Amino acid sequence: MRPRPRMLAVALGVLALGLLGYTQRATVAVWLAERGLARIAANSDPLSALADGLHVGLCGAGSPFPDPERSGPCTVVIAGRDMFVVDAGGGSAAQLARMQLNPGQLKAVLLTHYHSDHIGGLGDLLLQRWIGANATRPLPVYGPAGLQQVLAGIETAYRLDAGYRTAHHGETVAPPAGFGTEPRPFDLGAAERRVLIDTPELQVVAFRVDHGPVSPAVGYRFRYKDRQVVISGDTRRSAAVQREAQGVDLLVHEALSPQLVRMMEHSFVRAQRPQLAQIMADIRNYHASPVEAAQLAAAAGVRMLVFNHIVPPLPVPGLEAKFLEGTAEEFDGPIKVGRDGDWFSLPAGGHSIERARRP
Ligand SMILES: [Zn+2]
Ligand SMILES: [Zn+2]
Repeated sequence: MRPRPRMLAVALGVLALGLLGYTQRATVAVWLAERGLARIAANSDPLSALADGLHVGLCGAGSPFPDPERSGPCTVVIAGRDMFVVDAGGGSAAQLARMQLNPGQLKAVLLTHYHSDHIGGLGDLLLQRWIGANATRPLPVYGPAGLQQVLAGIETAYRLDAGYRTAHHGETVAPPAGFGTEPRPFDLGAAERRVLIDTPELQVVAFRVDHGPVSPAVGYRFRYKDRQVVISGDTRRSAAVQREAQGVDLLVHEALSPQLVRMMEHSFVRAQRPQLAQIMADIRNYHASPVEAAQLAAAAGVRMLVFNHIVPPLPVPGLEAKFLEGTAEEFDGPIKVGRDGDWFSLPAGGHSIERARRP
């Protein structure tokens, strides 16, 4: 009999605390938000917290398809203290921010080709980088032939916005000279590859891939000290990717599941939408399947394979297993189906590849 009043008191206490928490939820939420904001605001140089080496993050693991887990194509590569972004699909700048990286620290953007899904977020990214750094010089952007046309169009579209920003925030925050891009086009001509950056510590190479009728289309290889990553760009299975990926630590390769895309094609046929059905048939011939990429990874002897540009989206649990079907038989290293926020660290002077989510 004696414990009962005590139990009642405890239950009433818990209830009172719960009610207090509920009625004060806005105060608690503001307190939590202030702590989070203080941490983000104080972190203007997130690169300084990284170990010396090569770091690769997926700031967009998706494709033109809407995918809640994957923004448009974007891969961030940090080599020592230099931050590069390969492709700037829709949502890239927002995803970089979610990964607590500062676009103001971008050294350059490198574009693989000019399909809309790879450039759709470039305007936003340029704005975030400009204001984030109060930049007084435009951002270098590398790309194959066609670059100036694309950049001139984007700069024209954003020039009014740039004027508003300077008028509103002043020239210290938004210096007019820092708006826009400094095009660094490279013409492959008859060559298969071109070295873009070549210092004792960092080498960046562009190489021609096979995404016809889209031409030119390139992939990129980064070597920082003794660590290397290859990013395939959009391509069907390509001997050039295999050549460049020979023995590298990490291969980030695009992948399209022919079985799942064929399933979509049949759905559109049944729905009597023949144009969409045709697109589902057409796209299968200029992308690589997961099995083809795994075969290539094995032939090149890479240490880890990461899929990006995931087609189609994989909204139902278990579809990822279908997407990967047959890959483990071809490549016995680790394979990862990329999602926004995936993070791979390759410390210089070591052999490890540390996988994480960022943040
Ligand atoms: Zn694409
Ligand atoms: Zn493409």
